[in-house]
Amino acid sequence: MKRGQVKVERITADILIIGGGTAGCMAAVAAWETNPDCRVVVMEKAHIERSGCLAAGINALNAYLNPGETPESFLEYVRRESYGVVRDDLVLSMAVRLKDIVKKLEKWGLPIPRDEHGNYLARGRRSIHVYGERIKPLLARAVARSGALVLNRTVATDYIVMDGRVMGAFGFNVRTGDFYVVAAQKVICTTGGAAGIYLPCHPLSAPHRTWYSPFNTGTGYAMGIRAGAEMTSLEARFIALRVKDTLAPTGTVAQGLPIPQVNSRGEKYLEPLKGCTTAMRLWATMEEIQGGRGPCFLDTRVLSPGQSRKLKEAYLNMTPAMVLYWANRGTEPQEAPLEVSGTEPYIVGGHGLAGYWVDERRRTTLPGLYAAGDAAGGAPKKYASGSMVEGHIAGSDAAHSLNRGGPPDIPEELVRSKLEEIYAPFKKNQGVSAVELETALQEVMDYYAGGIGRGYGTSEKLLATAREKVAELKKQVTEMSAEDSHDLMRVWEVRDKLDLAAAVIEHLLYRRETRWPCYQVRWDYPFRDDRRWLVFVNSIYDAEEERFNMLERPVGGKAYAGGRKLGFM
Ligand SMILES: Cc1cc2nc3c(=O)[nH]c(=O)nc-3n(C[C@H](O)[C@H](O)[C@H](O)COP(=O)(O)OP(=O)(O)OC[C@H]3O[C@@H](n4cnc5c(N)ncnc54)[C@H](O)[C@@H]3O)c2cc1C
Repeated sequence: MKRGQVKVERITADILIIGGGTAGCMAAVAAWETNPDCRVVVMEKAHIERSGCLAAGINALNAYLNPGETPESFLEYVRRESYGVVRDDLVLSMAVRLKDIVKKLEKWGLPIPRDEHGNYLARGRRSIHVYGERIKPLLARAVARSGALVLNRTVATDYIVMDGRVMGAFGFNVRTGDFYVVAAQKVICTTGGAAGIYLPCHPLSAPHRTWYSPFNTGTGYAMGIRAGAEMTSLEARFIALRVKDTLAPTGTVAQGLPIPQVNSRGEKYLEPLKGCTTAMRLWATMEEIQGGRGPCFLDTRVLSPGQSRKLKEAYLNMTPAMVLYWANRGTEPQEAPLEVSGTEPYIVGGHGLAGYWVDERRRTTLPGLYAAGDAAGGAPKKYASGSMVEGHIAGSDAAHSLNRGGPPDIPEELVRSKLEEIYAPFKKNQGVSAVELETALQEVMDYYAGGIGRGYGTSEKLLATAREKVAELKKQVTEMSAEDSHDLMRVWEVRDKLDLAAAVIEHLLYRRETRWPCYQVRWDYPFRDDRRWLVFVNSIYDAEEERFNMLERPVGGKAYAGGRKLGFM
């Protein structure tokens, strides 16, 4: 669509799910299982068949309870990995349902290999192998069976908030340019996490090659921040140790195989399976590089030809670029070590801790709004299977708690004023482009707020400068111009990235210690301080005052309510 007349589509639903990814698909299915009569709408920015983190497939479900593991042992592991900052109730209510969700996936047709005892083939203590190249089409098919209305290529921009309650969302279709007003009793945010807040690790040759899905631009977080939702742990960024250049996950190589990490001198700086945290693996690599002993490698030369072949098969299910990498060089994995490096920071609640502050039913602090998957914070290490469980919990609870009144009426004045705002960039002929503003933001975040270019560290003075610069950039949002509806999407993505970046800076400023290696490093407070900072750092944005109110919440969380007794699955 180019500039011109805008068509308005008004839709009503019982439940609106924003983001038809991993958690969103499962939320739609759960709502239907709970209440087959409820009307569910899924608003998806891309196409539900291949969208979000699972677009290219996966080769493992990284949250699972293999024999010998329990929800409690899973919680212990998560607590260790997150340096004590974790919500017990969220992790336990997720872990207790992992087996059921995996059974469901298998029933829908996901091939899962088994071992000689009939158990799913373990990849590690809490991970199983899957042939998951088609996992996203399988989820999409399940949504289609549920009868939900899927609005593909329709990007949400803002919640509809009336009397402090979330009652739907505004969005537009990136192909037709039509404006969508979806009114709903309950809204579930499953828009994933955020890439593109920081300068990417290949800013010139491949700026859009990010490990995290580049289409997850933090819109779900930003919509919540603007509406005054309580957010948690945005300072606990996630930074991945990945294969250099392809950004392929290193877990595929390192998990279950005895592969050491070595520096350029061939010295082992990390033994395989030595029980150090994910963050420590990255930190140790950065220390080698900064100490002049880089580049660093996963020493795949220890692989047998059989293991090497299996490794390529695993990558074909998730990151085929890795197999092309070897094909391009005419080598096999066991012939040369694989170089590894860190990515830029991401804001994400599935690997990390960042996101909406939710209760055990995945309700946010805004009435009417749920969050699940990477959008929800407080419970890291949930990955794909845990995100699905969370989507299922949210979808079931939303369907359980519908009232007879039906969806609300959205006043015409509200619709008109939002339409004017969203399409305003079409009226500007020579405004700032989205790419210009995005690059400026990423450079600020990289330099002042602990990007890869600064070895992930930052300080009070640097962050104070970042705060000022981001505030200046935010003033330019109303100057952005758009030629067509794809441009328009980029414009609003940049606004969302700016809003999220402003919140991330406040969180980084507030936590005056260094808790997570690489993920959160304050050069001016270089030590972990459990006596003062073993707490969640949360924030609520006050739109009228244009400031963030910071809060602290205890770790642990309320007592576990007893998983299955809630009867969600
Ligand atoms: C490259 C990669 C590999 C991974 N590998 C594994 C693995 O092997 N095993 C494992 O267990 N986990 C893995 N994970 C983690 C796991 O995939 C994620 O934790 C999980 O998929 C997150 O689910 P989600 O529903 O929150 O997000 P997603 O599945 O990403 O879904 C978010 C959806 O929201 C849509 N969306 C975004 N913004 C908007 C908007 N404004 N309006 C409408 N829709 C919007 C997106 O298009 C997308 O469909 C991997 C993650 C990545 C990035």
